[in-house]
Amino acid sequence: MSDQSDAPPVPQPEEPAKALPLVLKEPRGRKKPPQHLADLTPAERKDRAVELGLPGFRARQLANHYFSRLVDDPEQMTDLPAGQRAELVEGLLPSLMTPLRTMEADRGTTRKTLWKLFDGALVESVLMRYPGRVTMCVSSQAGCGMACPFCATGQGGLQRNMSTAEIVEQVMAGARALARGEVPGGTGRVNNIVFMGMGEPMANYRAVIGAVRRLTDEAPDGYGMSARGITVSTVGLVPRMRQLADEGIPVTLALSLHAPDDELRNELVPINTRFSVAETVRAAWEYAEKTKRRVSIEYAMMRGINDQAWRADLLGEVLNSYGDWGWVHVNLIPLNPTPGSKWTASDPADEREFVRRLEAAGIPTTVRDTRGSDIDGACGQLAAAP
Ligand code: SAH
Repeated sequence: MSDQSDAPPVPQPEEPAKALPLVLKEPRGRKKPPQHLADLTPAERKDRAVELGLPGFRARQLANHYFSRLVDDPEQMTDLPAGQRAELVEGLLPSLMTPLRTMEADRGTTRKTLWKLFDGALVESVLMRYPGRVTMCVSSQAGCGMACPFCATGQGGLQRNMSTAEIVEQVMAGARALARGEVPGGTGRVNNIVFMGMGEPMANYRAVIGAVRRLTDEAPDGYGMSARGITVSTVGLVPRMRQLADEGIPVTLALSLHAPDDELRNELVPINTRFSVAETVRAAWEYAEKTKRRVSIEYAMMRGINDQAWRADLLGEVLNSYGDWGWVHVNLIPLNPTPGSKWTASDPADEREFVRRLEAAGIPTTVRDTRGSDIDGACGQLAAAP
């Protein structure tokens, strides 16, 4: 841990924070998604098998099918006695979601899937294959309560939190498709996961952490991915960012900043009225300090809104005020069009100038590709219309 005393003080809000709900209170009596082994730790799975009146070791066999062998067809689980198979699969591997539609772009190497969950809620996930790696963009909530006006998901409001297994299953569905050679480029594995689909992952904290654990636990208890390949993106729920820093899981944190000043950010990312730019950036910097992982600042470039040269300079200043040891990099996202939005992507010349100024301030800056925008599968376009 390095000395934190060089960080600027956090201005304290004068008024008490507004009571925006950070975490959705599930209405009582609402039916929960079916329980699946991906919701449970290995010990809990064993208990569940015993509860079903079956030997505890069957749970590990099932986990092996799910996470290692990547099979979901009970017929292929020949190490399970035929008489117990149906019961085991129903109890620990219930069906969680049905694909309603898959759209492809980039010759099949970008695939967006629309899923129907057990209660009819719709979510989307996107698989993107690049030379040498596969990224899955997953949803953590059906809808989103953060109401960012430029994001399609934000327009429909929040329906519900997803369960850990519902989050994991989006990845495993991609993993199975890759293992079966269904994605052009030969068989493969998922190397990266980004929580940049529908929803605010930090508002469904417990389920998201559970999913990260399942995906990083060694096979056959989990999928055995490196936590370094996982990025959790947030609007900046400060208490949750702090909590994440203390989990001891080296995931990458991405902060959707979009403006370096409170006046504009209050409009673009409404939660900013609760956690200011200074508080939010400070929490991101603390995350980098604690985990030694470079934080990513997401900045969707909106023409004439947040793309002025002076805002690039201000962004550089704000970030550099926390030190210049390389704790942060900026990822500019050309704004993807969403229905009814009055905003459009920045002029390429303005974008180049923005990059130039950030780099001149010593901040590594990249411009994100807009994969999937032709199938409404790019950032901020997931709306899950049937
Ligand atoms: N709720 C989380 C994760 C989902 S969005 C978050 O906000 O970080 C993933 C990224 O896409 C965020 O940085 C988000 O601000 C950005 N985004 C949303 N709408 C967009 C749009 N129309 N064009 C480009 N990026 C967008």
